[in-house]
Amino acid sequence: MQHPLPRIAIIGTGIAGLACAAQLHAHAAVSLFDKSRGLGGRMATRRSEVARFDHGVSRFSADGDFEVFLQPLIAAGSVAAWSPKTVRLSPQAGINQPRYAALPPRRQWVASPGMSSLGRAVVAQYQFDAVHLGVTVSALETQPDQRMRLLADGQVYEDFDRVIIAMPPAQAAALLPHGAMRQACESVVMQPCHTLMLAAPTPTEVAWDIALVDDPMVEIVIANHQKPGRDGSSAFVVQTNHQWSAQHIDQPVADVGQLIQARLFELFADSLAIEPLRDPESIAYQSCHRWLYAAAATPLQNPQGFLFDAASGLGVAGDWCLGTRVRHGFASGTALGAAVKKSL
Ligand SMILES: Cc1cc2nc3c(=O)[nH]c(=O)nc-3n(C[C@H](O)[C@H](O)[C@H](O)COP(=O)(O)OP(=O)(O)OC[C@H]3O[C@@H](n4cnc5c(N)ncnc54)[C@H](O)[C@@H]3O)c2cc1C
Repeated sequence: MQHPLPRIAIIGTGIAGLACAAQLHAHAAVSLFDKSRGLGGRMATRRSEVARFDHGVSRFSADGDFEVFLQPLIAAGSVAAWSPKTVRLSPQAGINQPRYAALPPRRQWVASPGMSSLGRAVVAQYQFDAVHLGVTVSALETQPDQRMRLLADGQVYEDFDRVIIAMPPAQAAALLPHGAMRQACESVVMQPCHTLMLAAPTPTEVAWDIALVDDPMVEIVIANHQKPGRDGSSAFVVQTNHQWSAQHIDQPVADVGQLIQARLFELFADSLAIEPLRDPESIAYQSCHRWLYAAAATPLQNPQGFLFDAASGLGVAGDWCLGTRVRHGFASGTALGAAVKKSL
C-alpha cells in the first residue's frame, strides 16, 4: 500500500519560507500560510497609480545554491541582474572633497516587475498542496495523534507532521511552546526602519541608481524606476537608519514621512534632478511605511542556521538566524528544509 505524503505547514512566505518550501515540495504535501495578502514578506512591492515601489528589499546578492535556485526564475523573466550605479553621498565633505563618490559596480539581483514577483514565481515553479494568503496563524496545537494543527482567523488547519515557522523572531516566539527554541528566538532583537516612497508627475532621471548616505537619519536612496523592468518614470525609495527609526517609532508614520522628505531635500539640495519632488503640490505619490522588524541587531549565528526539534516536528528559519540579508534568509530556509527532509 502506498503511504500518503507527509504533510508540512510553512508559516511565512518570505525568502526563508519559500526556500524551505522549494526543498520539500517533492517529498511532502506542503501548505504555505501568510498573514499578508501577497507572498515574499520583506521582499515587498507597493503598487500606486503612478508607479510601483519596492519598499522593503531593494536588491539582493546571490551565489552558490542561491544562484542555482534563481536560474528558473531568471529564465521565466521574474528575476533580473542589476549592476546599480552606486554613489556614497557625504554631506559633511570638506571643500576639496567630493560630496558624491562613485563606488565600484557590483552585480545584484532584482525580482521583476516588482520585488514581490519572486514569491509568485516560486509558487508557479513548484507544486504545493495549498497556498493560504491573508491568513494569520495565531496558535499551534499538538493533536492526540502527535500531529499538529494551526489555528488561524477562526479556522483550524489539521494533521501536519511538521510545522515550519519562517518569520522574524518575536513573531516566531509567539507561536512556540516554552522551551529552548522559544528562548533562542527571544534572544534576538530586531531593529526597525522607515521607508518613504516618493514620485513626481514628470520624469526624474538621476545620474545614480543607489545613493548610500552618511547621515544619522537617511541611510539609502534608491531610484526605483531605474531598475530593470520597472514601469513609471519617477519612483524614489528612501530608507532610514535603524537607530533613528527606533527613536521615532511611536510617532505617527505620516509625520515621520514628512521629516524624511524634508531631510532628503537638505541632503540633495544640489541635485536638480529631484527638483520636481520639492514642491508638495507637484508630488504624484508620497507614502511612508514603518518596518518594526527590519534587521537583527545581532543575528543568532547558530552554526546550523535554523532551529529544529525533531521530536515535536517544529522548525524555525529566517534571515536573523544567520544575518540580515535576503541571502541569509535563503540559506536558513534551505538548510532547515534539508534537515526536515532527512527527518521524514
Ligand atoms: C526596508 C528594508 C530594506 C531591506 N533591504 C535589503 C536589501 O536591499 N538587500 C537584502 O539582501 N536584504 C534587505 N533587507 C533584509 C531582507 O528583507 C530580509 O533579510 C529577508 O527578506 C528576510 O526574509 P525572511 O523570510 O527571513 O522574513 P520575512 O521576509 O519577514 O518573511 C516573514 C513572513 O512571515 C509572515 N508572518 C509573520 N507572522 C505570521 C503569522 N502569525 N501568520 C502568518 N504569517 C506570518 C509575514 O507576513 C512575512 O511574509 C531589507 C529589509 C527591510 C525591512
